[in-house]
Amino acid sequence: MLNIVLFGPPGAGKGTQADFLIKNYNLIHLSTGDILRSEIKEGTTLGLEAKKLMDNGLLVPDDVVIGMIKSQLEKNPTSNGFIFDGFPRTQKQAKELDKLLNQKSTSISVMLSLTVDDQELIKRLLKRGIDSGRADDQNENIITNRINEYNIKTTPLKDYYRLQNKLHEINGIGSVSEIANKLNQIIDNL
Ligand code: AMP
Repeated sequence: MLNIVLFGPPGAGKGTQADFLIKNYNLIHLSTGDILRSEIKEGTTLGLEAKKLMDNGLLVPDDVVIGMIKSQLEKNPTSNGFIFDGFPRTQKQAKELDKLLNQKSTSISVMLSLTVDDQELIKRLLKRGIDSGRADDQNENIITNRINEYNIKTTPLKDYYRLQNKLHEINGIGSVSEIANKLNQIIDNL
């Protein structure tokens, strides 16, 4: 199985690159942000609880997102592999993901980390807010909270995967196809 952690701050281009990767390598895309937004749309209790945090740019509790990933892994027992997008975001999530994959006799193959400076992220997110109507992309204070959450709680995960020789950092500024080619090269060389 090919299991990819697609990593990077909000606005780094993870969703865009995931679209290419799922097609090229026949993988299932698991974005915890997308799953949470669909829970909100459906008006579930989980969605309503998560919305309060998401609207402030704060992480939702670990157990909530771990439970979502667990059920998606169970729903797709015969997949070629998974792209984890926006997950894991904390040490606890990373450890639990390892356990869940271990139960399926598999593991994370690689972490692809897209790096983009904060100023560019803010610019991209504000533009996406206009294009998509996403509430958490429309307010600069919320965007700053999300980037802070990433810097404090999520960036340390690079060390978690670096210690396992799985971390690859890629400059996330450039054309979409240029970046996609770089990601393909890394995967093909695994
Ligand atoms: P995203 O679409 O990945 O930018 O996520 C949007 C929001 O959903 C985040 O700002 C968090 O509030 C929440 N979220 C998504 N994934 C996670 C996660 N793995 N852990 C905690 N919160 C998450």
